[in-house]
Amino acid sequence: MSFPNVRLRRLRKSEKIRELLEEVRLSPKDLICPVFVQEDLKSRIQVDSMPDIEILPLKDVVSEVNSIADLKIPAIMVFGIPAKKDDKGTSAFDQNGIVQRAISEIRKNLGNKIAIMADVCLCQYTDSGHCGLVKGNTIDNDSSLEVLKKIAISQAQVGVEVVSPSAMMDGQVKAIREGLDDSGFTDVAIMSHSAKHRSNLYSPFRDMAHCAPQFGDRRSYQLPYTNPTEAMREVETDIAEGVDIVMIKPALAYLDLIAKVRSSFNIPISAYSVSGEYSLVKAAAKQGWINETEVTLEILTAIKRAGADMIVTYLSKIAAKTLNG
Ligand SMILES: [Zn+2]
Repeated sequence: MSFPNVRLRRLRKSEKIRELLEEVRLSPKDLICPVFVQEDLKSRIQVDSMPDIEILPLKDVVSEVNSIADLKIPAIMVFGIPAKKDDKGTSAFDQNGIVQRAISEIRKNLGNKIAIMADVCLCQYTDSGHCGLVKGNTIDNDSSLEVLKKIAISQAQVGVEVVSPSAMMDGQVKAIREGLDDSGFTDVAIMSHSAKHRSNLYSPFRDMAHCAPQFGDRRSYQLPYTNPTEAMREVETDIAEGVDIVMIKPALAYLDLIAKVRSSFNIPISAYSVSGEYSLVKAAAKQGWINETEVTLEILTAIKRAGADMIVTYLSKIAAKTLNG
């Protein structure tokens, strides 16, 4: 085989030609920014393990979300930290709950300026800190589905556009879809945490959301990171149950799965770049060992290159500010 005069460097010669040839372009429009709101909080709290991330009191939510929208980020994902926890996670579906009030305020004040997504889970709301209801010493699947359904409906009632179940209960997409449809919310979409792994990269989030399990761990419902075939079955099952967007979580250590889901299914894919991924970047940047903005753009571009259509990330504002110039 003879090689003609191939010189790949010809196309890397000037900045404008390089720009023209970019195959993957990261945009603020690819990003979903998580927002944390805590009940009974008077003023913003800094999160030690996640520098520059703040937990908001309800009164600050609208202005914060407005500033996210001004960065051309199209969506937020709302997480709530309630004042009271109980064994049934009651405050998660309370019409006056912290997430419901936050969604309602955002919708009322910002209209359709930004898409509102919300987490649907129990771990912030149960005294066990588990993502489902506890029966004996197990996490009971089917009774948990009933509560997840109620949470999704309560969020739809105040104007959420996308609910995002993260409990990893079997049948959660089907249960929520049926619940939403029966309540007249056929147009509310479901972005399921389809392949949510039991990852060691969630610990900064748990500091923030006070949702560490009070006994045992989450191995009986979250995916082991050793099992890519099982992850594909989770995605396949969610698609069969009618999910609108699948999610792979975490993102950076799971690029192979994002690529595999991309090549196997015709469905929008989100990737969740989790708290530990954020903290790794911030900690190394603080030491001066890496360039925070450059590494942020590289990581998020890699997640997109692997096949993600959208990325839920704590790095959203850093990336958007840089990309907007
Ligand atoms: Zn959970």
